[in-house]
Amino acid sequence: MPPGDTIILNSLDQLPDSIRHIVDSLLELHSHQLPGEEKVPQFLFPQWSIFLFVLLVAWASAYFYIIRPASAKRKKVKEIPDDDTADSVVAGIRYEQWLNKYNPYYASLQVDLKKRFLKRVMAFKESKEFRFHFMQPEEFIPVLISGAAVQLTFGLRHFLIEYFPVINIIKGEYSYSGGHKIVEGHVQVDNRSINISWNNFIQDYEDYTDSQNVGLHELAHAVSFDFLYGFHENKHPHYEEGLKEYIQVAAPVFKELRQGKPHFLDDYGALNVEEFWAVSIESFFENALEFRYKMPGLFNAICELLNQDPLTNEKIIDRSLAGFSST
Ligand SMILES: [Zn+2]
Repeated sequence: MPPGDTIILNSLDQLPDSIRHIVDSLLELHSHQLPGEEKVPQFLFPQWSIFLFVLLVAWASAYFYIIRPASAKRKKVKEIPDDDTADSVVAGIRYEQWLNKYNPYYASLQVDLKKRFLKRVMAFKESKEFRFHFMQPEEFIPVLISGAAVQLTFGLRHFLIEYFPVINIIKGEYSYSGGHKIVEGHVQVDNRSINISWNNFIQDYEDYTDSQNVGLHELAHAVSFDFLYGFHENKHPHYEEGLKEYIQVAAPVFKELRQGKPHFLDDYGALNVEEFWAVSIESFFENALEFRYKMPGLFNAICELLNQDPLTNEKIIDRSLAGFSST
């Protein structure tokens, strides 16, 4: 998944103790803090003025990164209506054509699952604000990006990834926050946005065999935020158990990657546990057969966690857990 991207996380405090213990031990693998390495601070200005300055910066940050984004246009889409209006039917036909052409996962679905997928795409697209940068808006772009999200969450009951109301679509690779690093995408927790380079998104879906898929990669970050640190949109004992199982199976594989051993998974996954998760998802969908053959434990753990197996025609493992009757 080169070049790199970033997810900014807030806290591990919301994790169950048993899971946090495992995550902490993983995080220690790439901690570089040296014990006893403390510097005595020296202030150029009086401390009270520094305090006021910090307060001002905190307020400005809260406004620009939390309050304003959170108040961005957001349409509440709690359930999927049976919308049979003429406009909706016509839109469904267009969506169907685009998804069949560009999303191999959708193209492989059975008829009843395609219907469910389309409804979810409409709801997801409707619930987000898509912002275009350095390019003209086109209707099929949000449809295909919504399709990537629906693909990833197809086995989950709740799929709107509500913590992130804004999706920024940038024409090509970009840098952000004044940095020099060029990225294909990133998920930013502080301003609650998912950011994706469109050129890379569409190229990666055109080659659905190389385990490179920036759309699935960034949405995997967004979903993991929900699982690990966020709203717990899909809070359920099944997922808590599934997450625990995933972390236990993933830990030794992650260590192998960190040690530089030749591996089925992309080396970029060695960067940290978040990137490990995201590159695993890319391979999970694009090279599921080889993934299951080479690492059945990790493959099955991801199947359980997402409640879907991309190698089966039915895809969804437990339909009731996926809220199948209502969506
Ligand atoms: Zn990433």
